[in-house]
Amino acid sequence: MKNIVLFGPPGAGKGTQAEILKERYQLVHISTGEVFRYNIKNETALGTLAKSYMDKGHLVPDKVTINMLKDEVEKHPEAKGFIFDGFPRTEAQAEALAVLMETKGSQINAMVALEVADGILVERLLERGKSSGRPDDANETVIRERIAEYYRKTDILKAFYQKQHKYYGVDGVGSIEEITLRLSAVIDAL
Ligand code: ADP
Repeated sequence: MKNIVLFGPPGAGKGTQAEILKERYQLVHISTGEVFRYNIKNETALGTLAKSYMDKGHLVPDKVTINMLKDEVEKHPEAKGFIFDGFPRTEAQAEALAVLMETKGSQINAMVALEVADGILVERLLERGKSSGRPDDANETVIRERIAEYYRKTDILKAFYQKQHKYYGVDGVGSIEEITLRLSAVIDAL
């Protein structure tokens, strides 16, 4: 099994690249943001709860997010591997993910991070907000809060995976194809 965490701040391009990489490496792609948005659309209890955090640019509480992620992983017993996009985002989530992979006799092989400067992130998210229909992309205050939340809670995961010699940083500025090539070079070498 090859299990990859695709990492980076909001707007780094994780979703775009995950869609390409899942085909190339035959991995199951799990995006926690997508699962939350699906639940919001279908007006589930989970969706209502998640929305109250997402609209403010805050993270959804760990307990809820971790349980949801476990359910998503369990839906794919035949998976050859996973590409996680938007998870883990806190140390508690990273620890829970390690335990979950262990119960499958597996592990996270690498965290591959898209590195993009903050100024570019805000521009990209505002641009995406014009067409994505995502309320959290439409408002610059919410965008800045998401980036702040990233530095408060998520950025620390770089050190978490570095300690395990599993962190790989990749320049996230360039064309989609160029960035796919950079990410693939890392994954191929695993
Ligand atoms: P982006 O990376 O552009 O912020 P996502 O779709 O990954 O977009 O996430 C959107 C929102 O969903 C986040 O701002 C957060 O509120 C919530 N969310 C997604 N993943 C997680 C997670 N692992 N833990 C907590 N909240 C999450």
